[in-house]
Amino acid sequence: MRKKIFYVYNPHTLSYERVFPSLRKRIFTALRHLILGFTLGILFFFVFYYFVDPPRERLLKQENDKIEAQYKILSKRLDQLLKVMADIQQRDDNLYRVILQADPIDASVRNAGIGNMTRYTELMKLNDADLVVSTTRKLDQLARQVYVQSNSLDELVKLGQTQEDRLKCIPAIQPVSNKDLKRTASGYGLRIDPIYKTRKFHEGMDFAAETGTPVYATGNGKVAEAGWKQGYGNSVLINHGYGYQTRYAHMSKILVRPGQEIKRGEEIGLVGSTGKSTGPHLHYEVIYKGKHDNPINYYFFDLSPEDYDRMVQIASNQGMVMD
Ligand SMILES: [Zn+2]
Repeated sequence: MRKKIFYVYNPHTLSYERVFPSLRKRIFTALRHLILGFTLGILFFFVFYYFVDPPRERLLKQENDKIEAQYKILSKRLDQLLKVMADIQQRDDNLYRVILQADPIDASVRNAGIGNMTRYTELMKLNDADLVVSTTRKLDQLARQVYVQSNSLDELVKLGQTQEDRLKCIPAIQPVSNKDLKRTASGYGLRIDPIYKTRKFHEGMDFAAETGTPVYATGNGKVAEAGWKQGYGNSVLINHGYGYQTRYAHMSKILVRPGQEIKRGEEIGLVGSTGKSTGPHLHYEVIYKGKHDNPINYYFFDLSPEDYDRMVQIASNQGMVMD
């Protein structure tokens, strides 16, 4: 390495003169420069740090403000969505689920896990912790509720589909055309037996009609029995599913065969007076889960409430049972 050479300017001679400083003097000079530079450096650092907002910092701060404003907007929009959601949930519980006979969904299920604050501990360390945590919570809450609601609707769609089929199958009309109810002869319950004159339980409803009057299936189903049956004469038994069966007795003619699929309103036979009968009439039974039920409760598709009341009165008439 080359040895360093020092010069000093001499104002008298107006020239540079070479000097040979001692080692001590050279170390001292170097130290003095070092300390001066160091002090100036620190000074500048503090001046800049405290008095001048460096551009990068300023940008970050602006960005931060924007994010905060955006968070506030998000939070408000989430509030609105949660309100809409609450409305949907209320309709779901009080209307749809009631109509389709499903239990309302408990609030604890709809809001499961939302109260748990430990999941937000990481967010708590942030500057705007409250805003960020509350917004995140709202979002979690909404996500949970949307999920539960969506499941509920899926369930209701399925229920709605089976309900539709159920409504097509269960007995819901009268088995003979009976517009003015004049054909209603006798109802279900304890009656005097027309032949033995003893008190006997009448398991169906009688419709007085001329021989040859069409008899209609009262709901969709499948013919289980079609033929002669002791007491019932020419009779048909239809399986409707969902626990329901209907029987049509004393017919003059049967128009269906066992195993045949039947739609509501389809003609299955003609009124007659076969079997144990005192005159042309249709004896109609509704059987639910193996037990006879009062057919008067199964005409809701073609009876107005007023007609229903009249029919109840006529059917309770004790003297006209035709068996
Ligand atoms: Zn009868």
